[in-house]
Amino acid sequence: MSTSALLETDDQIELRKTARALFAKLAPERDIRIWDEEGSYPVDLYSEIAALGWYDIVADGDVDGAAGLLAALCEEIGRGSSDLVALFNLNLSGIRDLQRWGTPEQRARFVEPVLRGDARFSIAVSEPDVGSDSASVSTRAVADDDGWVINGQKTYCEAAGTPGAVMELLAKVGDGGRKRDHLAVFLVPVDTPGIEIRRMPALGRNISGIYEVFLRDVKLPPEALLGEVGQGWQILRERLVLERIMISSGFVGSSSAVIDSTITYANEREQFGKPISSYQGVSLPLAEMYVRLDAARCAVRRSAELFDRGAAPEVESTMAKFLCGQIYAESAALAMQIQGAYGYVRDHALPMHHSDGIIARVVAGPPSLQLDYVARSMGLRVGS
Ligand SMILES: Cc1cc2nc3c(=O)[nH]c(=O)nc-3n(C[C@H](O)[C@H](O)[C@H](O)COP(=O)(O)OP(=O)(O)OC[C@H]3O[C@@H](n4cnc5c(N)ncnc54)[C@H](O)[C@@H]3O)c2cc1C
Repeated sequence: MSTSALLETDDQIELRKTARALFAKLAPERDIRIWDEEGSYPVDLYSEIAALGWYDIVADGDVDGAAGLLAALCEEIGRGSSDLVALFNLNLSGIRDLQRWGTPEQRARFVEPVLRGDARFSIAVSEPDVGSDSASVSTRAVADDDGWVINGQKTYCEAAGTPGAVMELLAKVGDGGRKRDHLAVFLVPVDTPGIEIRRMPALGRNISGIYEVFLRDVKLPPEALLGEVGQGWQILRERLVLERIMISSGFVGSSSAVIDSTITYANEREQFGKPISSYQGVSLPLAEMYVRLDAARCAVRRSAELFDRGAAPEVESTMAKFLCGQIYAESAALAMQIQGAYGYVRDHALPMHHSDGIIARVVAGPPSLQLDYVARSMGLRVGS
């Protein structure tokens, strides 16, 4: 464990230990690798996560101290897999959205099953023609006498095929004026009639899986609407800071696991009569990656600290996500190079990390858009 753990509170250290013990028991590296290869969702692990009360960190609506705890937790989960962090984040962020925007009836219907481990949240924003420009969604919701009718298509919807999945689906209601004013989030169980999902074969993130979702005359009751029409953009935006902290911490954990396994390999593997770690061509790039990873960890920890002090660290969490995604992709690529032929064989976790690391840069905002946001915050006249 890095010395920056010395900056953690007793609660954070305890939670880390619990997470490490749980993963040793229910999610050892071999099992994670098999889930990833087979594309299977570990029901028992997430039932135990629910039973341990990790979702309760935000379930009563109070997020005091939540970011530091979640950062520590997600770093530990990320040591196993960033995909497992994504699944945890979807549930936790969904619970948080319903605490913030939902009615007591919606919380009873949708949050309680997630807390029991019987259901899970996913988020459906992207569409075939809509990626970063998420306000341009064309999936449409129309009000009728019984509630809502939704038509459209979503893509890359992570975890939509997991048991009991409920989508937080971004749709457009009405036309005219600013696009954002017409957005709304609907709570949509994936097994609602009129919905068809298809798994999209992908390079990585195979535990959660990504799905195309087709919605044809999907009828929903009035209470499927989360918040009000026009609040969709705000709902998505408000969840982002904590989401970035969790995802970035997960990338820090995954990068640490990758670097640790490479240190072990480099010390054990001998060529030309010496451990390969004795060659500076191996040790110096690893040392540099270690330094950069430590800086990335500090960046995400600062965001968590600011969040827990009541600030909204939008820029800081964006910078942390940019750095951590980058470091995960680069550390996995470096590890593949140092572990040579061994790294390429699928009987350990490195190939999974390599595939998941590539997309770490893109999910939750690609680098160019994140840097664009940072550039604006610096006072640069972007786009003028
Ligand atoms: C594994 C995985 C899981 C995902 N999970 C979900 C999910 O659960 N729910 C969901 O809704 N979506 C999900 N997505 C989709 C993800 O949110 C999108 O990939 C992301 O929003 C970026 O969109 P895009 O990939 O279509 O890229 P695009 O937006 O088409 O961008 C392509 C390239 O153009 C650049 N670009 C675009 N606009 C600009 C600009 N204004 N300035 C400069 N450069 C620009 C980008 O940086 C990028 O390099 C997932 C994707 C993957 C691969």
